Amino acid sequence: MKTAVAENQKISIQDRPQPALSDFNNEGAIVKVLGCGLCGSDIVKFLHDGTEKVLGHEVVGEIVDIRPCFLSKFKIGDKVVLGHHVPCMKCEYCENKNYSMCRQFKETNIVPGGFAEYIYVSPKHLKNTVFKVPKHLDDMEISFMEPLACCIRAVERAEVKDGTTSLVIGLGSIGLLMGQAIKAFKGDVIGCDLIEERVALASNLNFDASIKFEDNDTTAATVKEMTCGYGADIIFMTSGSDKAIEFALKAVRDGGTILVFSSVPNDTAGYTNNDIYYRELKVMGSYSPSPMDLELAHKLLRKKKVIVKYLSTVYSLDNLGDAIQDTMDNKTLKAYIKVAKD
Ligand SMILES: [Zn+2]
Ligand SMILES: [Zn+2]
Repeated sequence: MKTAVAENQKISIQDRPQPALSDFNNEGAIVKVLGCGLCGSDIVKFLHDGTEKVLGHEVVGEIVDIRPCFLSKFKIGDKVVLGHHVPCMKCEYCENKNYSMCRQFKETNIVPGGFAEYIYVSPKHLKNTVFKVPKHLDDMEISFMEPLACCIRAVERAEVKDGTTSLVIGLGSIGLLMGQAIKAFKGDVIGCDLIEERVALASNLNFDASIKFEDNDTTAATVKEMTCGYGADIIFMTSGSDKAIEFALKAVRDGGTILVFSSVPNDTAGYTNNDIYYRELKVMGSYSPSPMDLELAHKLLRKKKVIVKYLSTVYSLDNLGDAIQDTMDNKTLKAYIKVAKD
């Protein structure tokens, strides 16, 4: 099967053996990949982890092999969308709702990765993180389930609710999903970005306000003006904290929350101790979704509470390298890799 392999910051298209159920005790399912979204985390791995691997986890596909079983929710021919990590739901971490810290979480994965023509998914996935594609959504729309679920988890952890005002820094595809997730939890949301078109797009996607970033002082003053002088209750850092932290500290209200939602290349974000201490700020991270977050994301997409149409640009599997480059160059908001031919 055609497989896009990443190694040392290069993508090569290779012919690899197709996974078969017989390689996995005849359990689980083989999914023909129809398409797969390119995630920011794929790009981080592409740039900073040189080992040979197949990236891609925002998969939409069709079940082409599964052992017939009365208890199974799925059968051959079902169109599905899936999450790639499954927590055990019973360890110390899971009991404390730190599902993505569960030791089983990262051990479970799809094989080999979404940028291949076929993948294997385990029985654990089928039970917890695989969902049928609603008939009225196209493949690209439902491929947003996993990234939206990541945002839902962040919104839940930051305790967004009616009466809170959030500021989303960075209006890439994740920022635009985050704002809509905040609205789904009844919070108010202001979006902020350097790029004019993205600011305009946010206002069309149900954000209460969106502003173009000028400089730290000017834009923080605008945010304060919009929040009766206080600043935002919660800041979502969807763009690298190394660049945006100074602005975030100026725009957050005393006693507010900063939620870190992206990695930085050399791990030096520089949160200032005294701001956190004297201003009683809460700084927290949010990383990857639980099966419940995936289910809620599926529901919000199904009910069109979150609009993802027009966010993606389509690339073929052969052009995965271009998709990565265009995303890094901000030429596209979100790349969707169409893997299967029509
Ligand atoms: Zn993702
Ligand atoms: Zn667990």
